[in-house]
Amino acid sequence: MAARLVLGLALTAVAFVLAGRRVLMLYRLARAGQPVEPDRTREVGTRLWAVVTEVFGQRKLLKWSLPGAAHFAVFWGFVILGATIVEGYGALFQRDFHIPLIGTQTWLGFVEDFFIVAVLAGLVAFSVLRLRQNPRRTGRTSRFFGSHLGAAWLVLFMIFNVMWTLLLYRGAQINTGNFPFPHGAFASQAAGHLLAPAGRSANDVLESVGILGSLGVVLTFLVIVVYSKHLHIGLAPINVALSRRPRGLGALLPVYSGGKAVDFEDPGEDDKIGRGAIEDFTWKGLLDFATCTECGRCQSQCPAWHTGKPLSPKLLIMNLRDHALAKAPYLLAASDEQRALLGKDVLAEAGRPLVGPADAGGVIDPDVLWSCVTCGACVEQCPVDIEHVDHIVDMRRYQVLIESQFPKEAHTMLRNLERAGDPWGRGAQARTEWTAGLPFEVRVLGNDGQDRLPDDVEYLLWVGCAGSLDDNARRTTRALAELLHEAGVEFMVLGGGETCTGDPARRLGQEFLFQALAKQNVATLNAAGARKIVVTCAHCFNALANEYPQLGGVYEVVHHTQLLARLVADGRLVPAHEVDASVTYHDPCYLGRHNRVFSPPREILGSVPGLRFTEMPRNRETSFCCGAGGARMWMEESIGTRINETRTDEALGTGADLVAAACPYCIVMLTDGVATRKQQGKAADAVRVADVSDVLLRSVRGSAD
Ligand code: SF4
Ligand code: SF4
Repeated sequence: MAARLVLGLALTAVAFVLAGRRVLMLYRLARAGQPVEPDRTREVGTRLWAVVTEVFGQRKLLKWSLPGAAHFAVFWGFVILGATIVEGYGALFQRDFHIPLIGTQTWLGFVEDFFIVAVLAGLVAFSVLRLRQNPRRTGRTSRFFGSHLGAAWLVLFMIFNVMWTLLLYRGAQINTGNFPFPHGAFASQAAGHLLAPAGRSANDVLESVGILGSLGVVLTFLVIVVYSKHLHIGLAPINVALSRRPRGLGALLPVYSGGKAVDFEDPGEDDKIGRGAIEDFTWKGLLDFATCTECGRCQSQCPAWHTGKPLSPKLLIMNLRDHALAKAPYLLAASDEQRALLGKDVLAEAGRPLVGPADAGGVIDPDVLWSCVTCGACVEQCPVDIEHVDHIVDMRRYQVLIESQFPKEAHTMLRNLERAGDPWGRGAQARTEWTAGLPFEVRVLGNDGQDRLPDDVEYLLWVGCAGSLDDNARRTTRALAELLHEAGVEFMVLGGGETCTGDPARRLGQEFLFQALAKQNVATLNAAGARKIVVTCAHCFNALANEYPQLGGVYEVVHHTQLLARLVADGRLVPAHEVDASVTYHDPCYLGRHNRVFSPPREILGSVPGLRFTEMPRNRETSFCCGAGGARMWMEESIGTRINETRTDEALGTGADLVAAACPYCIVMLTDGVATRKQQGKAADAVRVADVSDVLLRSVRGSAD
């Protein structure tokens, strides 16, 4: 008994020293990061609720049925079986120890044993999944491609060891009379039956060996966890609690330096712009990197990865984490003298550029950085709420604003935005061309000498660059205008007073230009007294609703599908004419995933008689990007296959002859995809792409033209 106590405490001391050193180093490393913007410590209730639902409720994980259920069992096994660790330590001091008050209750014995069995079942499920999705067999299609496979198997093995040693000592305790539960612990009783023939003295030994083995495995596991990717076991609740709420999607954060938003009209001399080195990330960024479980759920949803690009959100986060850990001795050294004493490998790591070609030692290859469409599929899936898009855009900001390094095709778009206020360089005078030929007059602010919206105007129609200048998108704007006119909704447009919202500049990393354009628009909108804005472009919608408040522009912004769905529901628009077509709907990322507008477009399509609706396999939260976001619309797509064609194939796979969407970017990309497939003879001539409003107008009027 004394030997068991001494050994148990000695093992504990060694493990705590080893784990403690590592935890201290990780804490100091996180503190080396930049301060985080203040809102991470606000909204305490929301943050606690996120921990309850996502960590304890495993909300995101349970969307993946089998692995979700297996993870649920193992997670709750760890929580519940914490009681067995207390019992194990208690037994070091007193052989028949039980937890005070509840320690002999039948339900506790049952619950403990239930979770021992559930965890073992979970381990079997994990093993089968890992064998079936072994990247050595399935290549890039496996979500585990690039993950540390050996470490994952080691952890499964360690969990298995925890479970069988538990059963060993609990079974032996039954035979030595030291087991706290007379009833309920069914698996331990089965183990006891198996061990009983060995006799009392053998069971005495097995009890001590089992207790020390169980505690030893738990302590070894603790050390492995803090030195491996399984850090997430401890960090996940912290990361979930401190992530952006409600989610790291929608608005991008402003450029923060020292915890304050940078004003590009009056930047501070020491302002850090974007992330040009690992230590430029905030401590929350470093926490994100350390929390990654390498589960690959993000990778499995990423349109860039799916189409053969080098970007995997998982590998990006893993590379940043590995670089941070390898550079840690350099970052944590107290002086230049200490740094000079560091090994060559640490100094080499410290000298790597954060973004640069792999053959030049870059941590993140430029092709990785510029492949992102900012669709948010990674953020949506990540079970520990890592904010990939923020980190990617922050690195882009440094490349664009400090290094002037970005794809050359985007230069033209930026120049046009600066010069003419739209990506095509058409200028303000072209912004009302879309109104020509309409059977009613579109009211343009300023045309009648007024500089504020009159009281009878309910909505300001924000037309957007595409909506006023691109032929396909103009069709949508005209359809919306006709429908609003039909429903008797008074609206007005800014005409030449509108300029680009700045969305493509912001997603590219050109925050300076975004701020200039956005401030100009906010000044115009505020001077016009705009309160309610309707918008057809998902990107403009996101910027106006979520990002302009950062610059003092607070409005009630609705997407046109939301307004039209309401007008149909209220009977102010009546889709009376049959539209004979099979239709599918593509969720624009910046309408759906980023802003949770999923139902209104479907409600509109559902109200049109004659339409036969089929969902694509990837829809709503799991929708697959059209390839235009993140300013990718303005860049060449020269690596892998084209994202828009992949999505078009999915749409055509439903048998639809009408592909509906609700964003001009998506319409352009899908129209292009359909045209390509038609040329290749893979799509029927009758297939067409249209905005939801266009379809509704056909039904209301009997024709869209
Ligand atoms: S935002 Fe989309 S494209 Fe970018 S890394 Fe995430 S999933 Fe991939
Ligand atoms: S970033 Fe999130 S989803 Fe991706 S591998 Fe890491 S934990 Fe999994």
